[in-house]
Amino acid sequence: MRTDWPALTPDTSFAVILAGPSGAGKTTLRDRLLAPEMDERCTFSVSLTTRPPREGEREGTDYRFVDRDEFTRIVDSGGMLEHATVHGDLYGTPIANLDRASSAGKHLLLDIDVQGARQVREAVADVITIFVLPPSVSEMLRRLRGRGSENEAQLGRRYESALAELEAFPEFGYAVVNDDLDEAVRTVCSIMDAEERSVARLGSRAEAFADRLKDEIRRQMH
Ligand code: 5GP
Repeated sequence: MRTDWPALTPDTSFAVILAGPSGAGKTTLRDRLLAPEMDERCTFSVSLTTRPPREGEREGTDYRFVDRDEFTRIVDSGGMLEHATVHGDLYGTPIANLDRASSAGKHLLLDIDVQGARQVREAVADVITIFVLPPSVSEMLRRLRGRGSENEAQLGRRYESALAELEAFPEFGYAVVNDDLDEAVRTVCSIMDAEERSVARLGSRAEAFADRLKDEIRRQMH
């Protein structure tokens, strides 16, 4: 049946932040949310970072890898929506990512740390914040070690920052425990489904739909 219920458009798309400790499985979750079978309702916010690329990471797709001078230049010129130092390296979200996503009528998916999440919440009105939790510490460690790209000192640093990330947990709107990946993907999709149906966000376009239903009912009553 045809309906003129408002579709996802630039003014109904929003930013979705996925944050949480390293080893929670944010990156895997995010990759699944960006897979073609997800109808491309989200677009990934490619961050800038000064950390060196890990094996398999692609410039411009996973990150834009820049040196500190370039990073600082972009911050100074006001080009960052947020930026933070994470595990000793600089990370930041270019402001342009927001406009690019909303003009394509897509949600902007940000995989950022809690410091960045705070800054985005202050700067952007329409943002959904999701904290991704590992099911247990042993599983978190297993995932961190499984990545194989970190030495013991780097692992120690991630352990410490996991504590700092967890401190910020109450600031988030939603929590998703990433135990079973398929289930975590479904949960994030349900959150987006619900938010896409927010009357406050849909505003007058949803009201117009309801008005048309009312008109039709009135016509049928006569
Ligand atoms: P990784 O180096 O493992 O890719 O990321 C380390 C941490 O930095 C992760 O928690 C990730 O979410 C965060 N991160 C990645 N990009 C950004 C960004 O643009 N801004 C902020 N604040 N954090 C980021």
